[in-house]
Amino acid sequence: MKTIIVAGAGGFIGGHLTKALNTMGHNVRAVDIKPLNKWYQVHDGVENMVLDLRIKENCFQAANGCNEIFNLAADMGGMGFIETHKAACMLSVLINTHMLMAAKECGIDRFFYASSACVYNGEKQTDPNNPGLKESDAYPALAEDGYGWEKLFSERMCRHFTEDFGLLTRVARFHNVFGPFGTYDGGREKAPAAICRKVIEGKMLGKKDIVIWGDGHQTRSFMYIDDCIKGVLDIMYSTITEPINLGSSEMVSINQLVDYVEAIASYTLERKYDLNAPKGVRGRNSENTLIKQYLGWEPSIPLKDGLRKTYDWIHEEMIKSKGTNSKKVVFNEA
Ligand code: NAD
Repeated sequence: MKTIIVAGAGGFIGGHLTKALNTMGHNVRAVDIKPLNKWYQVHDGVENMVLDLRIKENCFQAANGCNEIFNLAADMGGMGFIETHKAACMLSVLINTHMLMAAKECGIDRFFYASSACVYNGEKQTDPNNPGLKESDAYPALAEDGYGWEKLFSERMCRHFTEDFGLLTRVARFHNVFGPFGTYDGGREKAPAAICRKVIEGKMLGKKDIVIWGDGHQTRSFMYIDDCIKGVLDIMYSTITEPINLGSSEMVSINQLVDYVEAIASYTLERKYDLNAPKGVRGRNSENTLIKQYLGWEPSIPLKDGLRKTYDWIHEEMIKSKGTNSKKVVFNEA
């Protein structure tokens, strides 16, 4: 039995990963900066630590006596957050720097780093019919300003800790991940959760309109959380030494995403397009040749299936929060 750190365990993906590792029978040390009552998931039998991992001493405290580290801690969110908090996003470099130093000094066997499709060169994402971003498309570098550059820099730091110090590192470039127990309001939410929330709100309040960021023709692919967790574990224990895509290749436009959510809700809204809102690149998709070569697998849970589960969870949460949080929607339905 190994002792494994999940950094960022109070967040969306970290919460699901903690659950998976705990179920597998490992000793899990779950670490996050947020107070425990703000974690999306807290699991029995897990050692929970509230620590700011930008601080070097805290990383050493967390890593002491552990075998492996999954580093998912980052100050991040959807486009609305990363386009307006570039310095905050870049400061996550302190987390990865200090976690890598702690991993080296504490003799950690394996280190996983959660990178992002935001490392890819923006000039390769100007067409909505994106054929898929290959791993080599990160260079020449022109990453998403702020957040993407931090991810690219931290990827390279992992590489050099391997080359210079022999630390075994694994890096996955996540493409949009969604599912239950994630952020769906407050400004850090991503498109699938935001669209679910807006459609639920619309239906409950009998609204006629929905505001869509951009013209709705921008494209993305969205990976359901179960595929993400399987991919993280398979990549961690693989022989893959280079950063690798972990994403769905089922590309849709934002308009299609809204169509799917409206079909689940059985409710249609008139679309108002906010062309001044943050919208990110024009087209992005995951090219999965490499992951299929290495793992004989790629994320394949259909978007519609994942959306149904996500919609149901957000709906439940919004019902639960009814009347308990003035920031949230006030329902007028029975
Ligand atoms: P999240 O925001 O839900 O989780 C990140 C967690 O890190 C949060 O709980 C946050 O409190 C914690 N954290 C932030 N600063 C910290 C600090 N100084 N010390 C300790 N903990 C700190 O995000 P997520 O969606 O679960 O993403 C996890 C990782 O995957 C992140 O590194 C993110 O950049 C990466 N990623 C996610 C997506 C996605 O679509 N969700 C896409 C690409 C990459």
